[in-house]
Amino acid sequence: MDLSIVVPVYNESPNLQPLYNQVIAALAGVNIDFELLLVDDGSLDDSFAVALSLAQTDPRVKVIRLRRNFGQTAAMAAGFDVARGEVIVPMDSDLQNDPADIPRLLEKIREGYDVVSGWRKERQDKWWSRRLPSILANRLISRMTGVCLHDYGCTLKAYKRDVLSRVNLYGEMHRFVPALASQGGASVAEMTVNHRPRLAGQSKYGIDRTLRVILDLITVKFMLKYSTRPMQLFGKWGVWTIALGGLSGMATLYMKWFEGLSMNRNPLLILTAFLFFSGVQFLVLGLLAEIITRTYHETQDKPIYAIRETVNLG
Ligand code: UDP
Ligand code: MG
Repeated sequence: MDLSIVVPVYNESPNLQPLYNQVIAALAGVNIDFELLLVDDGSLDDSFAVALSLAQTDPRVKVIRLRRNFGQTAAMAAGFDVARGEVIVPMDSDLQNDPADIPRLLEKIREGYDVVSGWRKERQDKWWSRRLPSILANRLISRMTGVCLHDYGCTLKAYKRDVLSRVNLYGEMHRFVPALASQGGASVAEMTVNHRPRLAGQSKYGIDRTLRVILDLITVKFMLKYSTRPMQLFGKWGVWTIALGGLSGMATLYMKWFEGLSMNRNPLLILTAFLFFSGVQFLVLGLLAEIITRTYHETQDKPIYAIRETVNLG
């Protein structure tokens, strides 16, 4: 199988038939073996029935129905887990992404990239609640992850299969796959893609999504940089906090001996105690995190490196 198109579906029944038609039209000229995986994320409308009728007329359409609404990232992960194509292309089911872009994404993958990320250059969404937060979030994500993309949030992307099998998704993390994959040594390219306004159904997100993305970004940054050595982060904070506590303690003593300010009248004493306590907490947190990290890596045989190829190793 050459290509798996993975589509999360949540209350999108009017969009599925046109989506199917457009995918077929887009791939008609290209000679590849593909599957269209529709993941019904606990839809409340008749999306599943529509998906089922598509699957009955065309065996290339495959349907996964989740037991309840797990969210877009989980729905995509469910699709990735069963996808059998060499290249995996996730896409929205609301027709905002254009299936006509898929052949171009495939070409770019054939050039040798492991990940090609779509960029909705002319994004057709609300300016204040969606586009502006997205611009700011993309800058922040690029800075923090070191993988510079204009549009992390675009669902339409293309992955080589082995790249995806090495990343696990949680929360709102499907957008961070390029950054996580790049950490594993994958090459990432960006390509402008068409974006269309939503014609049927409703958007599932508003401004509150930005906060969720920012919180996930903190997790991703931590995972990227410190997941194999958490003590180096928490330990650093711990040492600095204790050092500040020491300074504040010395200032308290200085004021007692040379300025006659008794310690129990000096608020710095409380600060000293607070800083010492927090510093110890950070150190202990670092130790705990080290233990958890070892469990995480060793129980899953997750190496702390990623090999591209080996020679003569058999
Ligand atoms: N989606 C999903 N589960 C959810 C929310 C959304 O599978 O809980 C799907 C939805 O059907 C669509 C895609 O994720 O195919 C993107 O959702 P939406 O179009 O609402 O997001 P927007 O384009 O507004 O960012
Ligand atoms: Mg949409």
